[in-house]
Amino acid sequence: MSKILFFLLIFIAIYLGWRSFRIRQIDSKKKEQASKQDFIMVSCARCGVYVPQSEAYENNGQYYCCKEHCHSNQSKDQ
Ligand SMILES: [Zn+2]
Repeated sequence: MSKILFFLLIFIAIYLGWRSFRIRQIDSKKKEQASKQDFIMVSCARCGVYVPQSEAYENNGQYYCCKEHCHSNQSKDQ
């Protein structure tokens, strides 16, 4: 009887180890996809500098490299 319990414990340990490995694999795939989205480069509508889309400031469908350029273009229109 104790042998059966021993093998059952080993089976559970292997299963839990495999499961956490799979979860980590899926997580790293998600992070990879997220970092690919980070890598879309957009150019600043004011100075033309390229910045990752995730770091760019968006205003009226145009991207800017920094807050100053975003606001300075706004004040021009007014
Ligand atoms: Zn700029």
